Amino acid sequence: MFNKITQKRMFKIHSRCTLFFVFLCFLLAFSDSLSAQNNLSRISTVDRSDGKGAVIRYHFSEAVDSFEVIQPAPDLVQMVLYGDIDTTGIQLPGYGDKVNQVILYKQDYGFGVDIYLGQDYAYMADAYPDQNEKHLLVGLTETNYEELDAYSQQFLAKTWYEDFKISETPEVNTVPDSGTNPDTYNPVRDKLKFDKIVIDAGHGGHDPGNLGYKRSAKEKDVVLSIAKKLGSYIEENLPDVEVIYTRETDEFVDLWERGSIANRAEADLFVSIHADAFTKSSVRGASVFFLGLGSTDRSFEVMKEENQIYADHEVVQDLSEEDLIVYELAHSGNIANSERIAYMVEDQLKNRAQRKSRGVRQKGLVVLYQSTMPAILVETGFLTNPAEKRYLTSDWGQSLIASAIYRAIKQYKKEQDESYSLKATSAND
Ligand SMILES: [Zn+2]
Repeated sequence: MFNKITQKRMFKIHSRCTLFFVFLCFLLAFSDSLSAQNNLSRISTVDRSDGKGAVIRYHFSEAVDSFEVIQPAPDLVQMVLYGDIDTTGIQLPGYGDKVNQVILYKQDYGFGVDIYLGQDYAYMADAYPDQNEKHLLVGLTETNYEELDAYSQQFLAKTWYEDFKISETPEVNTVPDSGTNPDTYNPVRDKLKFDKIVIDAGHGGHDPGNLGYKRSAKEKDVVLSIAKKLGSYIEENLPDVEVIYTRETDEFVDLWERGSIANRAEADLFVSIHADAFTKSSVRGASVFFLGLGSTDRSFEVMKEENQIYADHEVVQDLSEEDLIVYELAHSGNIANSERIAYMVEDQLKNRAQRKSRGVRQKGLVVLYQSTMPAILVETGFLTNPAEKRYLTSDWGQSLIASAIYRAIKQYKKEQDESYSLKATSAND
C-alpha cells in the first residue's frame, strides 16, 4: 500500500518534470527564434546592364530591420544597418574601378558601412530592398559631377570609429627610476626623451597657400585647423609632451623662422602640415615627405612619369645637391628617424583615416632643412580634388587626419622613450 502511493507520487513527479522539460524546450526554441541573428554573408557588386551605374547587393538571410543611406562626399556612401546582424565569414567585394572599398564597422545598434567609390565616376547612391528576396540593394546611378557635389553637401558624414574621440588614459611614464633626485635630473639624458614637438601649420597671413577646387578653400585655414587639433590631442593624451606651434593664428611666418623656432625649443620632432594642389582635379591622395637626397632623383622620375608637377609653393628656394649632402652627413640619425616617423604617419593615414596614399618621399624642402631634429612634412590631401576638399574642410575629415598623425606620433614617442630607457639603464650599469 505504502509502496503503491509512493510509486504513484513518483510517477506524478516524473510526469511533471517531463511536462516542465517540454515547456522549457518550447520556451528555448521560441526565444531562439526571437533572437535569431540576421546573417550578412556577402556584399557583391555588379555593373548595370545599361552601363550607367552599378548595384551593390547585401546578401542578408532575413530582411534587415531598417537602414539608412547618405552620401556625404561624391566618393563616399555611408550606410547604417540596424538589427542583430552576424557578419561571420562575410565576403566583401574586391577592389574595382567603380566601388573601391567597402568597410564595415560594428556598432551597438547594428553596423555602419563606408563605401568608397571610384574617383572617375559620378554616381548618386540610394538604397532599397530587393523585391523578391531579403537582400538589400544600393543603386549607383550616373549623374554629373556638379550635381553630385551639390547633393553630397547636404549630408554630414558619420564617424564609426569607436575610438575616434580619443579618450584613453594618459600613458604612465615608463622610464625606470635611476635613483636620482628628480630635482637634479640629468639634462643631457633628458634631451633623449621625447617630450617636445613643434607643429608647423603651413602658410598663413598674406600667404594663403593653394586655393583649392574652384578657388573655394584656403590651404592656410585647413592646415591651421588640423595643426590645432593635432596639438590638442597630444596635450590631452600625452601630457608629458610639450606642444609648440610655429603659428597659432592667421599670421605669416617665414620658412626659415619656422625651423629656427624648432631649433630654439630643442624639440624632438618637427611636423609641418600642408594640403596639396594640382591643375587636374582628379589627382588626390596624401603624401609624407622627409628631407634627404637618397632617392630625390628617382622620385623626380616618378613624378615625371605620372605627368604631375607639384605646385611647390613650399620650396621657396630649392636646396642644392651640395646642401643636402652636407645635411645628410651631419644629420644621418635624424634622417633615419624622419623616415621612420614618415612611414608611421603614412600607415596611419592609409589604414586609419582611409586616405589614398601617394607614399613616403624624400625631398629637398627648405622648411625641413632648417630644423636640426627629425622632421616631416605631411601633405594631407589635394584641396583641388572636390572630394578631398570636402573632406579636408570638414570638421570630421580634419579630426580624422589629426588623430591619424597623433597616433603615429604616439607610437614614435613610445619607441623613442623605450630606446631612451634602454640607454639610461645601460648608462647606470
Ligand atoms: Zn602648402
